[in-house]
Amino acid sequence: MRAAAIIVAAGEGSRAGSAIPKQFLPLAGKPAVAWSAEALLGGGMQAVVVAAPPNRLDACRSALGALPAKVVAGGASRTASVRAALASLDHAEIILVHDAARPGLRPALVRELAARIEAGAVAAAPAIPVSDALRRQDGGEVERAGLMQVQTPQAFRGDVLRAAYAAAPPDASFSDDLAAVAAMGHAPLLVPGDPCLMKITFPGDAAMVERLLDAVCIPCVGHGIDAHRFGPGDHVTLCGVRIAHDRGLIGHSDADAGWHALVDAILGAVGEGDIGAHFPPSDPQWKGADSERFLTHARQLVAAAGAQLAHVDITLMCERPKIGPHRQAMRERTAAALVLPVERVSVKATTTEGLGFLGRGEGLAAQATATLLRRL
Ligand code: MG
Repeated sequence: MRAAAIIVAAGEGSRAGSAIPKQFLPLAGKPAVAWSAEALLGGGMQAVVVAAPPNRLDACRSALGALPAKVVAGGASRTASVRAALASLDHAEIILVHDAARPGLRPALVRELAARIEAGAVAAAPAIPVSDALRRQDGGEVERAGLMQVQTPQAFRGDVLRAAYAAAPPDASFSDDLAAVAAMGHAPLLVPGDPCLMKITFPGDAAMVERLLDAVCIPCVGHGIDAHRFGPGDHVTLCGVRIAHDRGLIGHSDADAGWHALVDAILGAVGEGDIGAHFPPSDPQWKGADSERFLTHARQLVAAAGAQLAHVDITLMCERPKIGPHRQAMRERTAAALVLPVERVSVKATTTEGLGFLGRGEGLAAQATATLLRRL
C-alpha cells in the first residue's frame, strides 16, 4: 500500500520562548523538522510533505537539506496546514500526520502505525497513560483513570482522512486529526506511545528533547575492504584524487580502492549489502564510472534510513605510490563527497613491509570503517 506522511510545521511556537520557531531549532546536530522527516522516510513513508510557515519556506527547505521531502505553505491554523498538505499529496492509501515539535520519532513506530492501518484500522495513534494526578486550576480533582495523552504521528486510511477534511467547514479548527475523523464517527486504535516523542512546548523542553535524541541514537560501525591489480597506465585515482604513477589500476570502474572500501563500510553500517549488489560489475553503465557516484548513493541510503554519518576512516595499503603527499587532498575530497567536516574524515596509509601481493607491488588494497548514528 502506498503510504505518505504530512509534517505540520507551520506554527510560530511562541510558548517555547525561542527566537526561531521550535520546528527549526537545531537539536543534537540537526533541525527538529529534519529528525521527523528522516524517521518517517526511514519508517517506509514513500512521500513526505511539510507544511511550513508561508514566510519561512526557504528556511524549511534548508532545514531539510537533501531529504526528499516537499515543502508547502501552511495555513493560519493546524487544520488549515493539514488541508494544504493534503491538497499537494498524491494518492496514498495510508496517511500519517505528525507534529514537527515531536522530533523524537522512531522509524519502528512509523512502521507499526502503517501496519495497523494496513491490517484494517481506520485510525491509529500512539498514546501514553497519564501518570500525574490531575487538577483543575480551581483545585477540583480530575479522575485520571482511563485518561491517555495522545501523541503523533496519527495514522489514517487515506480516503477517510480526506473525506473528513472535505466534510469539515472551511473554518474548522481541530485540536488534532483524530478529532477530524471522530467527527465522522471513527474511533482510533491507540498503540503504546513513546516518552521520547515528548512535544516541545515550553522553555526547557528543547533541552530535554535534545538529551532524549542523544540517548536513542546508537552507533553502527561498518567495515569495508577492496583491492585492485596494477596494470598499464600513467595514474591511479585514490579517494577521489588523481595521482601520477608509472602504472594504473585495473577495474571495471575507476578502480578507486579507497572509496570502494569506504562505500562497503557505509553500506555495512546501514545494513544495505555490498557495492557489488548496488553496482554490478557486469553492468556496462558502470564501466569507467567515477566512484563518487557510488559514494553519493551510499550517502543517500544513510539519509533515507534516518541515520547520520559520524566519522569515516580509510587505510590505503601499498608500497607505491607514496600516499603521504596526497593524504590531505584525499581527506578534503572525501569530506566534500560525503558532505562532512574534514575533521570527521581520516585517511592514512601503510605498507606491508614487502610482504604478500602488496609488497610485491602486484596491486593495492584499502580498508575502511564508517561510523553512523542511527535511531532504531
Ligand atoms: Mg573495487
